[in-house]
Amino acid sequence: MFCPVCNGLQTLTANCDNCRAPLSDLGRMADLTGPYAPYEPLDILEQSESMAICNHMAFCLNCEQSINVSIMEWS
Ligand SMILES: [Zn+2]
Ligand SMILES: [Zn+2]
Repeated sequence: MFCPVCNGLQTLTANCDNCRAPLSDLGRMADLTGPYAPYEPLDILEQSESMAICNHMAFCLNCEQSINVSIMEWS
């Protein structure tokens, strides 16, 4: 299983729930470090789903807020 976005096969395309503007990809959540990086235990998500999910953070420049985008991994 691999994430198409992490592997450069697909660009993260998502729209803001708030204003519908296209979001910019901030990268994999697991790769984000620093005191303000949101933490979510990926293991729990992956175990509860039959399909693995890669969590990405995207950012809406309009609303100036980051949004969690779940990418289905490919087998
Ligand atoms: Zn990914
Ligand atoms: Zn927005």
